[in-house]
Amino acid sequence: MKRGGESADRTLRKEGAAPDPERLAERLARGDRRALARSITLVESSLPEHRRSAEALLDAVAGLAPTSLRVAVSGAPGAGKSTFIEALGRYLIARNLRPAVLAVDPSSGLSGGSILGDKTRMPELARHPAAFVRPSPTRGAYGGVARRTPEVIMLCEAAGFDPIVVETVGVGQSEAAVASMVDMLVLLVLPGGGDELQGIKRGVMELADLVLVNKADGAFAESAAATASEYASAIGLLPSRWRGWRASVRTCSALTGDGIEMAWTDMQRFREGLGDEIRAKREDQSLRWLWSEIEEGFKEALEGSPELRRARQGLEEAVRSGRIAAPVAAARLLRRILNR
Ligand code: GDP
Repeated sequence: MKRGGESADRTLRKEGAAPDPERLAERLARGDRRALARSITLVESSLPEHRRSAEALLDAVAGLAPTSLRVAVSGAPGAGKSTFIEALGRYLIARNLRPAVLAVDPSSGLSGGSILGDKTRMPELARHPAAFVRPSPTRGAYGGVARRTPEVIMLCEAAGFDPIVVETVGVGQSEAAVASMVDMLVLLVLPGGGDELQGIKRGVMELADLVLVNKADGAFAESAAATASEYASAIGLLPSRWRGWRASVRTCSALTGDGIEMAWTDMQRFREGLGDEIRAKREDQSLRWLWSEIEEGFKEALEGSPELRRARQGLEEAVRSGRIAAPVAAARLLRRILNR
C-alpha cells in the first residue's frame, strides 16, 4: 500500500508523460478521487520534469480558497489512532462530510523501517467513495517527516475534502513538524499513565489542542476517567497558545464509538471559535514553508552542481584548517551561487 518517492516515479513513467496540470486541476475541482491520487503521485515524484508539472498544478489550485479543517492525530503506536480515525471517518461520512486521511511516518527515512505504512489501515474508510485515504510516502523519499505533506493537504482541499486528518506516530519531533502543517493537534493517549503521563514530553503536551483518552470502555472505563483528570490538571498548568481556546481533555472509545461525536464537536468549536487566529496561524505557516523550501532548494542546488560541490568542499576544507574565516567562506560561496 505504500507509495511515493521512487515508486511514484515508476508509476508516472508507466503512465507515460506527466499528466497535464490544467486538466488535473479541473478534475480535482470536481472532486475526482483518481485525479487526486494522480496529483499526489505527481507532487511526491522526485524527477525534475515532474516537479515543473507539480508546480503548475499547485499554481492552478492555489486560487481554490480552501476552508477545510486540518487536524493532526498523534499518539504512541497502539493508542488506537487508526481505529479512531476510521470511527471518526464513518461518523463524518454519515453526516455527508468527505474526510481525507494522510499518514505521515516519522520513522521512514530515519530507520529505513516504517511504523505506519505497511499494514492496510482503515480498510472501510479506504474503500468508501466519500473518503480519501493516502498512506505515507516511501521511506527515504524526503527524509523524516514527509516534505510534500503540505502540498498533499492543498490538493485534498482543492478536491473538496474536509476535514483533512493527518495521522502521525508520536515521537516528539514528528508532532512539532506535523503541527506546523495543520490547524489543530489531537493527542490520543491510553488509560492509566501515572506521574510521567506515559512519557509524553512537555513540549508535545503544549502543542495539543485536544487530548483524547482512548479505550475508555469495559475494564478501562474507570481508569480512563482518572487518566483524563490527570491530564486535565497537567494541561491546566500550561500556557495556552490561543486566545480563544484552552486544550480540552475527553475520554472516548474508538471501538464502541463513545465520545466520537464529542471529539468532533470539539473540533468544530475549535474551527468556529478561532477563525481569525487560524487564519493568522496559516499565514505564519505559509511564510515558514516558503523559507524552508528556499533552504531545501538551496541545498539541492548546491548538491546538484558538481562545480558548486567542489567549491563547497574546498571552502569547507579551508574553514576547517583555519585558512579562511567561516563568514568569509560563506560570503564567497553565496556570491558564486548568485553570480555577483
Ligand atoms: P494505532 O497504532 O495507534 O493506530 O492503534 P490501532 O488503531 O491499530 O489500535 C491498536 C489496538 O487497540 C487494536 O487492537 C485496536 O483494536 C485496539 N483499540 C483501538 N481503539 C480501541 C478502543 O477504543 N477500545 C479498545 N478496547 N481497544 C481499542
